[in-house]
Amino acid sequence: MDLRESADDRSFRDEVRTFMEEGLRGDFAAVRGRGGPGDEHALFDERLAWERHLGAHGWTCVGWPKEHGGRGLSLRRHVIYHEEYARARGPGRLGHIGETLLGPTVIAFGSPSQQRRFLPPIVAGDELWCQGYSEPDAGSDLANVATRAVPSPEGDEWVVEGQKVWTSLAHWADWCFVLARTAPPGPGESKHAGLSYLLVPMRQDGIEVRPIVQMTGDSEFNEVFFSGARTAAGNVVGGEGRGWAVAMGTLAFERGASTLGQQLNFRNELAHVTAVARRTGVADDPVMRQRLAQAHIGLEIMRLNALRTLAGSESGTLGREALVGKLYWATFHRGLGELAMDVMGAAALVSGDPEVDALARVFLFSRADTIYAGSNEIQRNIIGERGLGLPREPR
Ligand SMILES: Cc1cc2nc3c(=O)[nH]c(=O)nc-3n(C[C@H](O)[C@H](O)[C@H](O)COP(=O)(O)OP(=O)(O)OC[C@H]3O[C@@H](n4cnc5c(N)ncnc54)[C@H](O)[C@@H]3O)c2cc1C
Repeated sequence: MDLRESADDRSFRDEVRTFMEEGLRGDFAAVRGRGGPGDEHALFDERLAWERHLGAHGWTCVGWPKEHGGRGLSLRRHVIYHEEYARARGPGRLGHIGETLLGPTVIAFGSPSQQRRFLPPIVAGDELWCQGYSEPDAGSDLANVATRAVPSPEGDEWVVEGQKVWTSLAHWADWCFVLARTAPPGPGESKHAGLSYLLVPMRQDGIEVRPIVQMTGDSEFNEVFFSGARTAAGNVVGGEGRGWAVAMGTLAFERGASTLGQQLNFRNELAHVTAVARRTGVADDPVMRQRLAQAHIGLEIMRLNALRTLAGSESGTLGREALVGKLYWATFHRGLGELAMDVMGAAALVSGDPEVDALARVFLFSRADTIYAGSNEIQRNIIGERGLGLPREPR
């Protein structure tokens, strides 16, 4: 496998780099390096303006097909885009749930009229989305969702009742994609039948969003209560009762291409940890030096696995090697958070220094990495069953 970048790819990289560098000076200088996991509360208005700036210049949804407002980039270029975004320390994207989860799902499973209605505002940065899957009794066992939707008496709307939990960015979202039960499973059917994938507007009386305070002290996610919430009858993706296949499609996008450029964000964080270690003399300790080197090796493994995945993905879909991606990056990042705390030592307990606080946030938020988008245990099940063909877990 040839790991060198072609001249065309290099010039694409230069184009992205120039755009990011220019954009993140001047008006947008304040958002550089802000937002994202653990810092999601930061600079909402400014980041929304940045989202729209990206949209206006064709730098959102770059992997979507051109007919849906994207650039139709190959996976390789898509990763280059993410790498350059991270290198420039572009802010955490407010539109990432729409761009990476809902949009690809509507492109794959939605009707032409749903595509016309919902995709352009994501591209433009005008509508933000949240993901309404998890409930108090449905997480890894997602098919257990108890939120229900029934047709309104007039038949032109769905009426939604129930509760979602851990709903990231629901407090800012304009829309939520909600996995809800619209019918009980038929005789002989599993509980995966009778679920529907509904698109529900968030700004209405029947929805209450209650923030959950996290270890970081911020509220990046929420409880969402639906009591008589309404959405139009046509806002079902993939057909009534067929939401399970659609929901699994979304999860595949969540664990797929969008995370391939992830290591560049981690590279920035490790550079930060290493700088602190050098400044404080911790880097002279042989054990700490070994751990810092090990973290660099982990990043290289991530980069090479991303390249290996890309090499096998000419058809545009990800192969078996992609299955290890989520487990690997989540475990790596949790370890990086622990390393950051050990490098800072007692100073990590002192709040107020922005450098210390930023690394402490990495530690606190990275505890969640091995839980969301499928916990490590669930990822191991997926690798065992789908990747290695081992017998299925008893259900
Ligand atoms: C920061 C963060 C953001 C999130 N954002 C969203 C969001 O926007 N929208 C949304 O819908 N959800 C969101 N979630 C919820 C997330 O998807 C769930 O937390 C996750 O699916 C796990 O579900 P659970 O918390 O109910 O844990 P459970 O499923 O109850 O799992 C508890 C423990 O049991 C283990 N376990 C469960 N089943 C198995 C099994 N079959 N084999 C082996 N071990 C098993 C798990 O690995 C875990 O360790 C978010 C979570 C976090 C932490």
